[in-house]
Amino acid sequence: MYDNPIEEARRQAQICNACRYCEGYCAVFPAMHAGRFFSDGDLTQLANLCHNCQNCHYACQYTAPHEFALNLPGVLAEVRQESWEETAFPAPLGRAFHHNGTLIAGVAVLAMALLFWAARHLSSGGTGFYAVMAHGAMVAIFLPAFLLPLAAMGVGLRRYWRRVGGGPVTLADLRAAFGSAATMRNLAGGHGDGCNFEEEDVFSQRRRVMHQLVMYGFLLCFAATATGTILHYGFGIEAPYRLLSLPKLFGVIGGLMLCAGTLGMMHLKAKAAPDLQAPEVRGGEFGFIALLFTVSASGLALYALGGTSALEVLLALHLGAVLAFFLLMPYSKMAHGFYRLAALVRDAQRKR
Ligand code: SF4
Ligand code: SF4
Repeated sequence: MYDNPIEEARRQAQICNACRYCEGYCAVFPAMHAGRFFSDGDLTQLANLCHNCQNCHYACQYTAPHEFALNLPGVLAEVRQESWEETAFPAPLGRAFHHNGTLIAGVAVLAMALLFWAARHLSSGGTGFYAVMAHGAMVAIFLPAFLLPLAAMGVGLRRYWRRVGGGPVTLADLRAAFGSAATMRNLAGGHGDGCNFEEEDVFSQRRRVMHQLVMYGFLLCFAATATGTILHYGFGIEAPYRLLSLPKLFGVIGGLMLCAGTLGMMHLKAKAAPDLQAPEVRGGEFGFIALLFTVSASGLALYALGGTSALEVLLALHLGAVLAFFLLMPYSKMAHGFYRLAALVRDAQRKR
């Protein structure tokens, strides 16, 4: 852990800028080589372009015990972490989650699940899930719990944009950024063989695959909720839905992908060298992955056992996990998806 990560990142970036050996590994090096001096905003942008593949570290001839003691993945991870904490709104919540994430996620899921458990008697006499929890009560709880964190995330992104000196965004910038995020091109390494993340000198695509399972699994789960809402309000068709319906197909496939992706991410993270990441926030990162796993696993359990006496407990647990996930979104590792996208947009601007 560095006393002053931004100054240390500046020192290391200047060495890399003279060396240029890692030019082709990722988007960080071309962006770094575009300038000779690095403002705090430049370093924040470089840190958010880095996805901690660790390829440059294992290729570097200037790592310890060399006197330059290069550790670019490690120092950029710390700068990145600090930037998320400082731009989060409100910032103390960002700091709290990053340093005590597992505890906060666990307490939040438990508290929210107990809240839903206590509220199960508020049902207005519907069927299925709505026999346990009234639809109106769910909407009243989830709508602000979704919109308020999104607004907080918007404030954080605005702060980030100012810090990195971002300009007006064009359609071409967005197309380039979303194209890169959709394929996770950078996670393939510049040569297409993948990351050194979990093992030195062994290139692997596992981390890219796990990220894709998590991202597309999450998007499918979101699509399940969206199609369920359309069926409910547009066509008057209420949950629970048949297996061959869009909400259930999206939900089951997305849930399985999320479960597999989060378990895979936990495994890879546990194997990776801690000193090449930001070690003091590993708890927060594991807490977030565990929270995402709880959301997907409890959702699948609800699909499988929704017709049994376990319905009330599973529904309270699943709704509690989903609510905790949304409330913690701007302060957890989920925020990195938004900041990474912003960094890709800014990088597309640089290339214009
Ligand atoms: S990480 Fe090492 S090898 Fe790569 S550009 Fe920097 S100094 Fe050169
Ligand atoms: S760790 Fe990977 S993404 Fe980060 S600077 Fe090095 S090569 Fe690029």
